[in-house]
Amino acid sequence: MRRADLVVVGAGVNGAATAWWAARSGLDVVLLDRFEAGHERGSSHGGVRIFRFAYPQAEYVALAQQARRLWRLVEEETGETLLEETGGIDFGWQPGVAATAAALAAAGAPHELLGPQEAAERFAGFAFDGPVLFHPNGGRSWAARSVAALTRAAAAHGAEVRFEEPVERIEVRGDEALAHTATDTFRTGRLVVAAGAWVADLLAGLVPLPRLRVTLEQPAHFRPLEDGLRWPSFIEHAADAAFSTYGLFEPGVGVKLGEHQVGPEVHPDRRGFEPDPVALARVSAHARRMLPGVEPIPVAVDTCLYTTTDDDDFVIDRVGPITVASACSGHGFKFGPATGRLIVEVAGGAPPPPRFALGR
Ligand SMILES: Cc1cc2nc3c(=O)[nH]c(=O)nc-3n(C[C@H](O)[C@H](O)[C@H](O)COP(=O)(O)OP(=O)(O)OC[C@H]3O[C@@H](n4cnc5c(N)ncnc54)[C@H](O)[C@@H]3O)c2cc1C
Repeated sequence: MRRADLVVVGAGVNGAATAWWAARSGLDVVLLDRFEAGHERGSSHGGVRIFRFAYPQAEYVALAQQARRLWRLVEEETGETLLEETGGIDFGWQPGVAATAAALAAAGAPHELLGPQEAAERFAGFAFDGPVLFHPNGGRSWAARSVAALTRAAAAHGAEVRFEEPVERIEVRGDEALAHTATDTFRTGRLVVAAGAWVADLLAGLVPLPRLRVTLEQPAHFRPLEDGLRWPSFIEHAADAAFSTYGLFEPGVGVKLGEHQVGPEVHPDRRGFEPDPVALARVSAHARRMLPGVEPIPVAVDTCLYTTTDDDDFVIDRVGPITVASACSGHGFKFGPATGRLIVEVAGGAPPPPRFALGR
């Protein structure tokens, strides 16, 4: 039996950030993950993720602004480059672009609306058929590197980190929770479950979760036709979804391009890793349509899991000693350290933001 102030199940970006902030705040922390460090079975692995302030919702703009400050703190503590502000652009369905511009304006975040011609001159790798919103704080987060840095920083603040230690069962006894693994039991008044695609299995019967769809997503990388083109991170807005396609430049690999929330539903323990040729052909067609600056033949393919709510908002809330932290829906990485801090506050008794509350 190991007692701790706070125990975190899951060392992806959300769990690692929670452990970092909690240990940094002086708590006795244990961080557990079922797989080895750096595994590629969940949602936080690989090269890069889009960072942006640019959201139509004020709460996400504010959370991203906090995250930017905290990513810099993690960089200071670890000496790593984790967030690079290469600039970001939004285009496509104009009401979505306009709502995003309005939210940036309301938050005092720098941005400018470019005509399609001016945008094409500035970003010659793209084909635009309407106005383009440019925001300089957009860019890229380094994914696996950031998770490793957060985990290392948590350990540097005293957190006990155990990989290949699956939590097999969670039990609630009064105001405490017990996380049972094959070898140990961890007892705490603050159990954070940040288990990504596995959260529904782990919390079944313990926390009334909303519907969570786990899908297998498959972005690909394309080689630029020439060096020196400017590649901001990009979001293509759509009328029937938060966005339809997204992408960014990954140095050394190419331009990453993906479709949002189109993958097949899977169980995280019964999913494949082989690329789906039909999905690959679809992404290549998007590259041909919107990225004249790349060769529309994939040079690399990733597979990765989304855990999506019906309203695309996160679930961060507490039931007794258990705090659920499901911050994904395909857009959770960028907020890492800010979400981590929020999760620690909620586990400590603070009310969750209404947008993230259970039963909203
Ligand atoms: C293709 C793709 C593109 C994306 N693009 C972006 C982007 O551009 N920008 C952005 O901000 N976000 C993006 N995201 C979303 C982002 O990557 C996720 O929201 C984020 O990584 C979720 O992290 P997590 O910590 O919740 O989950 P995970 O990283 O999956 O971590 C959960 C962890 O829990 C562990 N676990 C599970 N069960 C147990 C157990 N029983 N015991 C112990 N440990 C357990 C797992 O091993 C895993 O390590 C993208 C996601 C995908 C898939």
